[in-house]
Amino acid sequence: MNGNRTLTMIKPTAVKNGHTGAILAKIYEAGFRIIAMKYLKLSEEQAKAFYAVHKERPFYNDLVDFMSSGPIVAAILEKNNAVEEYRRVIGATDPANAEEGTVRKLYGTNIQENAVHGSDSDDNAIIESDFFFSKLERFDLI
Ligand code: GDP
Repeated sequence: MNGNRTLTMIKPTAVKNGHTGAILAKIYEAGFRIIAMKYLKLSEEQAKAFYAVHKERPFYNDLVDFMSSGPIVAAILEKNNAVEEYRRVIGATDPANAEEGTVRKLYGTNIQENAVHGSDSDDNAIIESDFFFSKLERFDLI
């Protein structure tokens, strides 16, 4: 069964360029509810831990430097089939290849600074949500 939650981050360049409000509006327009949200800056160690699955990839160090370079917004989003639905909303990893109207097409800068993160599986959505949020920081809206 597909899960109903995913984890997103609005990445440093998108925050710095003032796109936080527009991206949150796209998230709401797409029918997601926000269960938890925070504005924070990852340390280098925290960024390394979050992206540990990518540590063998050639861009790992650059990605860690980038993701710890400035504040981000992290949020847990809820909707039926959330992981797949949200990845449709954000578009392809490289903004140049993302469909028109997707978050990465609209607000991404390049393949690394691609505006947002979205979990790639239900298991990772749980792991990534637990990385940022305790139970006390989550709100099940009626
Ligand atoms: P995603 O699931 O669409 O975010 O893509 P991946 O899991 O493949 O990659 C994780 C993140 O690493 C991406 O969102 C980008 O920020 C970054 N990334 C992916 N591919 C590249 C690349 O070829 N070069 C660089 N510099 N960064 C990349």
